[in-house]
Amino acid sequence: MIDCEYDYFFQLVMLGDSGVGKTNLVSRFVSNRFTAGSVSTTGLSATPHSANFGESIVRLSIHDTANPNRRGALKSQFYWFAKGALAVYDISDRESYSNIPNKLEELRKELRLGSSFPITLIGNKCDLADKRVVSVAEAQKFADENGLMFEETSAFDGSNVTKVFRDIITRMIEKKE
Ligand code: GDP
Repeated sequence: MIDCEYDYFFQLVMLGDSGVGKTNLVSRFVSNRFTAGSVSTTGLSATPHSANFGESIVRLSIHDTANPNRRGALKSQFYWFAKGALAVYDISDRESYSNIPNKLEELRKELRLGSSFPITLIGNKCDLADKRVVSVAEAQKFADENGLMFEETSAFDGSNVTKVFRDIITRMIEKKE
């Protein structure tokens, strides 16, 4: 059920290549579900969710920009009101990590963002330790240099998933106050 009353409403945008686990991160956070071998979503989706923060109720609309071919006006309209972003790569896929700077640049340009816009860099699939090709140190350095929060997650086993969503919600609340 979706609450009609809330103290904060935020749009949160998910960025990252198709296949990095964006859909599963959202479903793990919203309904504690993981789908093995799911077909990657195409197009745009908005998942509503409510969370309690102390006395406050936060309503979220989590926007996933899954279709890499859909660029420009339509896409930027879709996340025009975003108040935070999760930029996701797969720790076992270097290309998905290499594509992050472009995606952040595109977001910053389209939304004309200031440096205080909260963004978390997420290295997902940290359960696949034996397939790792992007080190924590490398990603942490990039995050530090670019003013991003950084965390590794696993939508598969749930590691850090709630934490990354709650941390960015906290930042969005702080920015609003
Ligand atoms: P999206 O295209 O970014 O939305 O990615 P999906 O959420 O559809 O996930 C793509 C594939 O990666 C699916 O086969 C998922 O089951 C798998 N996957 C997603 N997250 C994880 C994870 O944390 N660990 C592992 N091992 N697989 C994952």
